[in-house]
Amino acid sequence: MKKTVLVSGGAGFIGSHVTVELTNAGYDVVIADNFSNCDMTNYKGVCQILGKELPLIKMDFCDAAATDKLFTDYKIDAVIHFAAFKAVGESVAEPIKYYKNNLDSFLNVLEAARTHGGCNVLFSSSATVYGETDVLPVTEQSPRQPATSPYGNTKQMCEDILRDTVKAFPQIKGIALRYFNPIGAHPSALIGELPNGVPNNLVPFITQTAIGKRECLSIFGNDYPTPDGTCQRDYIDIVDLAKAHVCAVTRMIDGKMDESYEIFNVGTGRPVSVLELVNAFEKVNGLKLNYKFTPRRPGDVTAIWADPTRANEVLGWKAERTVEETLAAAWAWEKAIAK
Ligand code: UDP
Repeated sequence: MKKTVLVSGGAGFIGSHVTVELTNAGYDVVIADNFSNCDMTNYKGVCQILGKELPLIKMDFCDAAATDKLFTDYKIDAVIHFAAFKAVGESVAEPIKYYKNNLDSFLNVLEAARTHGGCNVLFSSSATVYGETDVLPVTEQSPRQPATSPYGNTKQMCEDILRDTVKAFPQIKGIALRYFNPIGAHPSALIGELPNGVPNNLVPFITQTAIGKRECLSIFGNDYPTPDGTCQRDYIDIVDLAKAHVCAVTRMIDGKMDESYEIFNVGTGRPVSVLELVNAFEKVNGLKLNYKFTPRRPGDVTAIWADPTRANEVLGWKAERTVEETLAAAWAWEKAIAK
């Protein structure tokens, strides 16, 4: 019997790539999204890649009755919860909006999972929970630092909510995946990142500068205590990241978990500086990028990268694509959506 995975926020950047990989791995996927921060582009791309229409429910997970109905209409074996607001700066300006949306939606998912006899729940967390740390790379045991934004705090709070929920209700199992910096696009160039307005993230800003939508990339700070003075991050290819979800879902559905709540870092284990990333982008795509150094961006940590050993050994997952391949895919996607 095919198992069914509900993907909340399945029309977004990460959700769409995860949907493709889950389907390729033999799962039935139900996508639910309120389209508050995306349009139909990625959903249509997913269907084109897979050569079939997938069930799509337009709904808001803050609506408890609608969430419950979803669990009535489908026999859901696992849910992957992406549906959340994700702009750090906006979360500082609009904390109530962020707490309400990100917590309510997750609580409704857990409530529905509980009342419908239990479920496997995968929560989309972030390396942001580690904050600034001197001990690198970070393992899952590295201490979490107090969150520096309401967005980051919702990630920590949802992790804790999931941990406490599985403790109280044994019919619910949980995994939190802590993503480092997801970048790139599907090699088909049919799905990818679609930032709203001026991108906050580095790679969409690079590709938009390269295509002429932005005049110049600002590299925030070249006086950090790193080899070239720019910040270091662990950039993880979006398709590699998506595959980690398939491994995690399968581990839950097959009843292979060692504990009822598990955490995994999803990263490459390889630090890359902003300047290295820019240089790699120029080299692999054969172009010159207009960039300048500007002051540090408030809130940025100097360096963070993953120790992915636990995901490698326990999930049997490993990042495979090189940063060059990923940056080529990001550029192909930018060109595809410019058409
Ligand atoms: N960055 C930059 N210019 C930009 C956007 C980002 O120099 O226009 C840098 C940022 O300072 C950080 C890295 O790129 O060191 C990754 O930033 P991003 O916002 O993509 O992810 P974060 O690590 O903040 O989650």
